[in-house]
Order: sequence, then structure tokens, then C-alpha cells
Amino acid sequence: MTTIPEDTVEIVGYDAISAIARDGDLYYRLTNCHQASATGVQDGTACRACYELVDPIFGAAYTAAEVAKMLTAADPFAGIVDVPTNDGWDT
Ligand SMILES: [Zn+2]
Repeated sequence: MTTIPEDTVEIVGYDAISAIARDGDLYYRLTNCHQASATGVQDGTACRACYELVDPIFGAAYTAAEVAKMLTAADPFAGIVDVPTNDGWDT
């Protein structure tokens, strides 16, 4: 029931919210509870491994450019971070 899916996604990095995975041309967040993808359910967005509801942000898909910006903004060692808005994910 709570088996963690064996998948082949590549984690490309972490921002302040979660891990971000790549599957082909698609980038998406992995849930913090199971490092699993999320799926839409009747009540919102849920972890695919345990079906607990998670923030709808976990159901979003991102482009490579968006992910690059998110990871740069999240990296405390990236030096000067010039991100005028967080329009990639806070709307
Ligand atoms: Zn979970």
C-alpha cells in the first residue's frame, strides 16, 4: 500500500520547498514525505506514494529555464542572487 514507486527520474536539485526531478523534458517536484511525484485527486493534489494531500505546487510542471532560476535562487552559495520576482511559483 505504501510502497515507494521505483522510478527512473533524475533529481536535478533542491530548492527551499522540495527536490526537483526531471523526467525527459518535464520537470516537477518530489513530495517531501516520499520523494514521489504528485497526482491530482478529488480534494486537490496528493503524494503518489501515500496519497496524503500536499501543496498544489507539487502538481506543477516546470520548464528547464524555470528550474534553473529556482535552483539559482535557492542556492545560498550561488553568490549574488538577482531574482526580481518569484513569479515562477508563488502565484
Ligand atoms: Zn507521501
